[in-house]
Amino acid sequence: MNIKNYINGNFQNPISNEWIDNYNPSNGEVYGEIPNSSKADVEEAYKAAKSAFKQWSQTTLEERSRILIKISELLEANLQRFAEAESKDNGKPVALAKAVDIPRAASNFRFFGNAITQFASESHESVGQNAINYTLRQPIGVVGCISPWNLPLYLFTWKIAPALAAGNCVVAKPSEVTPMTAYLLGEICNEAGLLKGVLNIVHGLGTTTGQAIIEHPDIKAISFTGGTATGAHIAKVAAPMFKKLSLELGGKNPNIIFADCDYEDMLNTTVRSSFANQGQICLCGSRIFVEATIYKKFKTDFVEKVKQLKVGHPSDSKTNIGALVSKSHLEKVKDYIKIAEEENGVILCGGQEVNVQGYENGYYLEPTVIEVPTDECRVNQEEIFGPVVTIMPFNSEEDVLQMANKVKYGLSATLWTNDLKRTMRMSNQLQAGIVWVNTWMMRDLRTPFGGVKASGVGREGGFEALRFFTEPKNVCIKY
Ligand code: NDP
Repeated sequence: MNIKNYINGNFQNPISNEWIDNYNPSNGEVYGEIPNSSKADVEEAYKAAKSAFKQWSQTTLEERSRILIKISELLEANLQRFAEAESKDNGKPVALAKAVDIPRAASNFRFFGNAITQFASESHESVGQNAINYTLRQPIGVVGCISPWNLPLYLFTWKIAPALAAGNCVVAKPSEVTPMTAYLLGEICNEAGLLKGVLNIVHGLGTTTGQAIIEHPDIKAISFTGGTATGAHIAKVAAPMFKKLSLELGGKNPNIIFADCDYEDMLNTTVRSSFANQGQICLCGSRIFVEATIYKKFKTDFVEKVKQLKVGHPSDSKTNIGALVSKSHLEKVKDYIKIAEEENGVILCGGQEVNVQGYENGYYLEPTVIEVPTDECRVNQEEIFGPVVTIMPFNSEEDVLQMANKVKYGLSATLWTNDLKRTMRMSNQLQAGIVWVNTWMMRDLRTPFGGVKASGVGREGGFEALRFFTEPKNVCIKY
């Protein structure tokens, strides 16, 4: 099936009529084409967005809210169709897309549809000077949203929903590897009655289509989720134009397990935080540190549970681990398993490709647990972004804290303990944007989301996102 660009409410071919193959990772076959959009397509999308801006930014909050909530309802009504499309494009189990990706995409629209009606600005009375200041929060204009392939619609809408709620018009690009649900979203926006040109979705390569968005002098803000190297490149291009930037980048998150935790809960959640979505979630706890007193027991129990995970076709309801997103990504992850062995890591389970009967050309890999001799080895320092975790023991709180922080990333951290004082001490000192204690990936959309160090700049979520997508303007009135 060929997909098209969504510009000014219409579905259209790329101006150059050039196309890119779209692969189904579960069987390695091309199943459609996507536009290889050029600068000219981005320009057209920008013009549509610009001409819609005046009307959209003046649309009442109630009306904006109504439309966003309508989009959310339509996504929910089309749950099965969207979940199947997401799974076919990405390789994730249909059940996961149905339980997580699509419902969370719908929640993004519902949440920001509601949040905008509660968003308020501040006023400051200049006491003794007979003056009052108030802050306007005005939409920026045309903004760019660029998202990755791991949680395609979920992260795409995480940016688009607050941008639209705040009154901006959007030029957006999903990953070229997983464009399908973004394409389908266009249909839903038309059905929900979103004004033409308010949202424009341009498909193509990061280095051409994405590049045209970040280089566009009148696209004044970029919200980007993706790899750290791409984020650094975007920052370089955008800085001389003084664009507003929100960068959600890579992670290499520690999962720290103390002996006093609720063991069963920790064990089950750790399997999930290691391998959900084939380990392709920026928040996965890919470095597992276990207190030495329970290390042996944990190692045995964890490996036994991981071996029970079923790698299979994404549409099989018994599948726990589907296909990796692409052939090149599979090769990258396999390379890291080789590197681990070269660095004296011990593969406790997994490590091999899986032949799923009937889908022999799909990109399947066993969930892999590697015992590492030191936290400084490459597999413990570099983002693998696949079904691979490392484990190693620690002796003291100080040691584990030091190892947890000794990476270039700082997105999230998970802590398993029932000691309140330790929880407080460690949460204060972990270098991360998000700390989960005795849980993982529990999300409340009002909370700030983002990372420190090489994991990004800025925060999204809740009013943080609405602040990002608006310009504050102070008005000072003397009376
Ligand atoms: P990439 O950085 O390769 O790509 C992300 C997006 O940017 C894609 O749409 C890509 O297009 C586009 N892009 C690539 N080059 C450019 C460019 N020069 N200008 C503009 N856009 C460009 O990341 P991946 O898609 O490989 O995603 C995986 C990464 O995302 C991991 O590092 C992961 O940790 C991170 N991530 C971070 C999250 C967070 O919240 N912090 C959440 C989820 C993932 P195309 O794909 O078409 O090349």
